[in-house]
Amino acid sequence: MDLRSDGTADCESCHMPMFPLTMTDQEVTLECANRHHVTVPAPQDPKLRRFVANWVARKGAQVEEQRRRWEADEDAELERYEIERQSERDDALGNSLGEPVELRSSKMERSERGV
Ligand SMILES: [Zn+2]
Repeated sequence: MDLRSDGTADCESCHMPMFPLTMTDQEVTLECANRHHVTVPAPQDPKLRRFVANWVARKGAQVEEQRRRWEADEDAELERYEIERQSERDDALGNSLGEPVELRSSKMERSERGV
């Protein structure tokens, strides 16, 4: 496994981005959002070493941030799903009440719905 030019890598287990946690002269240890770890030889390129050092200085803060973002996304998705389900139910209810009952005046119907 190789480091990318920004000092991160792809997890071989889950293909999430991995971020450097620690670096020694010989090796870099990276962690993904699923807490898989991998150790790779430390880069020789000074620029890449600096990137890795930056990640290490942030102590995996990016991983935590990403994990929170994913959790937030999942919540938002669930919420959208619930809203969709809710509006489907409303449509079904509206049709079953509204259309077959000819006696019901449109005025009544509006007031019943509280519009
Ligand atoms: Zn992983």
